[in-house]
Amino acid sequence: MNPDSVQSEGLQAIAVAPDTAALEQVRIALLGRKAPLVLALRELGSLPPEDRGPRGKVLNQVRQSLEAALDARESELEAAELDDRLRRDRIDVTLPGARVERGFAHLIEQTGREILEVLVGLGYRISDGPEVDTVYRNFDALNHAPTHPTRQATDTYYIDEHTVLRTHTSPMQIRTMQSQPPPVYMATMGRCYRRDTPDATHTAMFTQIEGLAVDRGLSLAHLKGTLLAFAREMFGADREVRLRPHFFPFTEPSVEVDVSCFNCARDGSPCRVCKGEGWVEVLGAGMVDPALFGYVEGYDPELWTGYAWGMGVERIAALRHAVPDIRWLWENDLRLMEQFG
Ligand SMILES: [Zn+2]
Repeated sequence: MNPDSVQSEGLQAIAVAPDTAALEQVRIALLGRKAPLVLALRELGSLPPEDRGPRGKVLNQVRQSLEAALDARESELEAAELDDRLRRDRIDVTLPGARVERGFAHLIEQTGREILEVLVGLGYRISDGPEVDTVYRNFDALNHAPTHPTRQATDTYYIDEHTVLRTHTSPMQIRTMQSQPPPVYMATMGRCYRRDTPDATHTAMFTQIEGLAVDRGLSLAHLKGTLLAFAREMFGADREVRLRPHFFPFTEPSVEVDVSCFNCARDGSPCRVCKGEGWVEVLGAGMVDPALFGYVEGYDPELWTGYAWGMGVERIAALRHAVPDIRWLWENDLRLMEQFG
């Protein structure tokens, strides 16, 4: 081993080590347990006594110069690496911050909450029920004959023979009456499912708000008054409502409810909301069919009468904001949704 070449080559390697990790490898090669210089120092003891002093002095000088160079290079590299890290991680507190967008309730949710608020103001209590319910509560106890067309698998999503994705929120009428004695003033909102082909006014999943009132002496006049108050809150203080005879299995008599158009002068001129009719259909309703009371305990049809209604929240939202196609409400295109934020 030639001390001069170990020193010159060592100093050269130290000088060109690009970072602290590489320098550590150089340190091991030059001064590690198996480094030639270290081995030579260890062998000093086996040399003749007269050679030991001069040889030891040379080797120790080489070691000291390498150690000093390693320490110096290490400080240099550490400082450079720190500089570099600081430059990379620097946060400029004077830059404008990234804006965090605030969320807001979806138009369907907003509209639903608004409707429920009106109903709470009229004394209704909010209930919540499952989207999966029994065939019994969805159809049988709501007076749907076994042959009723909506019971078919082409119209309704069946989980199994006895279980469906509810086709309306009306099972909540049965759940409510099963769980409490009259009088009842209940409102509920939730998703419903029907095997409809989607178009501008139908989607396979939709949101319904249902109301049920059962008390002594309730009549169609109370239903009309309730819906008039609702219509005036939602569509404007000078709205009128109109009831048209209809059929639903679980109400008798049943009606479809129209609200006077809020978009036009109602003089027959073209109107995109009412199509010149002057009236807009908003929901279905009726007096609770006394047969329903036979499916629950404690509701004597001689003592109690009731009324109920169901409305599509998407339809109400689309009408109020002149959204021509309710599928748009489910597409969640932010360019549309953000207009309702
Ligand atoms: Zn109109």
